[in-house]
Amino acid sequence: MHGKARTGRLLTPHAAIETPVFMPVGTVASVKGVPQDTLEELGAQIILGNTYHLYLRPGVSTVRKLGGLHGFMAWPRAILTDSGGFQVFSLNELRKVNEEGVTFRSHLDGSSHFFSPESAMEAQIGLGADIIMAFDECTEYPADQARMRASMEMTARWAARSKKYFEEHKSEVPWNAASEIPTLAAQSAARMGHPPSLDPPLSGHACQTLFGIVQGGMDRALRKESAERTVEIGFPGYAIGGLSVGEPRELTREIVESTLEHLPVDKPRYLMGVGTPEEIVEYANLGVDMMDCVLPTRAARHGLLFTSEGKVSIKQARYAQDAGPLDPNCGCRVCRRYSRAYLRHLYASNEVLAQVLNTIHNLSFYLDTMRRVRHAISLGVESRFLASLWSRPKT
Ligand SMILES: [Zn+2]
Repeated sequence: MHGKARTGRLLTPHAAIETPVFMPVGTVASVKGVPQDTLEELGAQIILGNTYHLYLRPGVSTVRKLGGLHGFMAWPRAILTDSGGFQVFSLNELRKVNEEGVTFRSHLDGSSHFFSPESAMEAQIGLGADIIMAFDECTEYPADQARMRASMEMTARWAARSKKYFEEHKSEVPWNAASEIPTLAAQSAARMGHPPSLDPPLSGHACQTLFGIVQGGMDRALRKESAERTVEIGFPGYAIGGLSVGEPRELTREIVESTLEHLPVDKPRYLMGVGTPEEIVEYANLGVDMMDCVLPTRAARHGLLFTSEGKVSIKQARYAQDAGPLDPNCGCRVCRRYSRAYLRHLYASNEVLAQVLNTIHNLSFYLDTMRRVRHAISLGVESRFLASLWSRPKT
């Protein structure tokens, strides 16, 4: 497994990204509780925005007028938006799917909306992220064979429609017209394994990159077919979607490992929506280049902190008089400055600062973990040893 890990460098219009990379989730153009300058300080190279949420509020045309997501949220580094497919999927009872697209109701005001591959591309071009995603259908779990196949085939047809629309409209990106952004040719700098790289832009303009998404439920053969069909359509990068939807973790790993075998080694591979610190290390070792997950930010807001000594539930009374740092091995601004006792007090008092500080530490822990994984891979060292850091019993 270790031999499949690789490091690389993806050049996007706004920033170079060292891979494997963890991408913090900024659902509504905000990583909850963390200002952009702090994200920069933590070393976040690329963050995620959710098309569904931004489409509903503040709306694509507003974001476009304000310079796209980069201008709107004052974030100079790379951004990736999802296609909206997963969010619509997670509002299961409110959606209606047919060949044309998905009709759904807004969770904000109940109004009716429609996403097709074309309109999802239009929205993502208007939002102007560096990397955007084909419109897919996330298959629910569990699903029977016929359902998994039908869903996978529709995702393949939607991928072709997404690509067609994107190719015809990619020049409409908000930062392209008055662009001062230099065109960046793709480069890669792998030290081990096969380097993932992005193809250079065809024209002299920097433009977005569209990734395809592999679906196929929990069936290895369907995943293989989905990968082959998506690769045949041809994208500069590929995502594995439809996982972490309630299946056992061992199954997630099995599907990831088998799907990776069918993706081109020289293109970036993005595993959507995973995972714990142990899992992101494990997936990087399997050859995944990009990952995102709400876990570090969401858990932080619930007082669950990831540390080099294991998980800490800061609400526990045992920390009430603990003068030590949250994580003695963490150099983040929270661990350098505050005690566990203070963090516990903030949480118990329901202070906004508790959410801010907890989130900063958890993100720092995830981003540091990936930094160490990159370092280990580049040295040719088995980076799986890092995983033992979290399974070590607390003394
Ligand atoms: Zn820390």
